[in-house]
Amino acid sequence: MPIDLIDIGANLTHDSFDDDRDEVIQRASDAGVHRMILTGSSEQGSRDALELAESRPGRLFATAGVHPHHASDYSDPVHAMLNELSSKKAVVAVGECGLDYFRNFSPQDHQRNAFRRQLELAKETQLPVFLHQRDAHEDFVEILAPAIVDITRAVAHCFTGGAEELSAYLDLGLYIGITGWICDERRGRNLQQIVSQIPLDRLMIETDAPYLLPRTLDPKPKTRRNEPMYLREVLRAVAEAMGQSEPDVAVATTENAERFFAI
Ligand SMILES: [Zn+2]
Repeated sequence: MPIDLIDIGANLTHDSFDDDRDEVIQRASDAGVHRMILTGSSEQGSRDALELAESRPGRLFATAGVHPHHASDYSDPVHAMLNELSSKKAVVAVGECGLDYFRNFSPQDHQRNAFRRQLELAKETQLPVFLHQRDAHEDFVEILAPAIVDITRAVAHCFTGGAEELSAYLDLGLYIGITGWICDERRGRNLQQIVSQIPLDRLMIETDAPYLLPRTLDPKPKTRRNEPMYLREVLRAVAEAMGQSEPDVAVATTENAERFFAI
């Protein structure tokens, strides 16, 4: 039997799963991905993630947060709602939250405000925090560094940065989430070269489904939609790039996710 894996970032409430969500969850389970953390990235998305998680206690869990794309929606009522969601048993982290200056769907000052407030929430609730950062490394570290001392645990999800960003994150004590980005023969090459610098006790894996379908899947799926069952391919690519065995990386990443999310 393959070692159980935990997908720490699955956007299973995404509407691309509306027609076959149960089958997707079953296929993941058949592939040994029995547990998943469903990403909450907006007010409604966090409620939906919680509802889905509560339908399968002990197998599905949720985060509660507002993605930087939606930072302009952040308000006192939204903050209060996230606080309420955070008290639910199935909610195991605050986020995803952070900064995304690549797309700037929300103005940067709104992003910084929503990020700061969710870090406060992580501090108050003592839940770990699920972090997103793209093209905003300096501001991200400036906001996170003073807050991190009061936060239990934090993960830089879907890490795609370079060696310098990685060492800054490790110095801050962050866990690192790796997706199928590492399977991309061009964009993922840099990540393949530095992933071995992540200590095994700080590494977790995720699909970010339905995004980031691993490009190395063989045979290639008919659609570009990613699914949690493909977490095995992320594991394979990470183990290969690290020069470690798949079982060793599987055991470590599963243990890390259990400890990180207290599941
Ligand atoms: Zn993200």
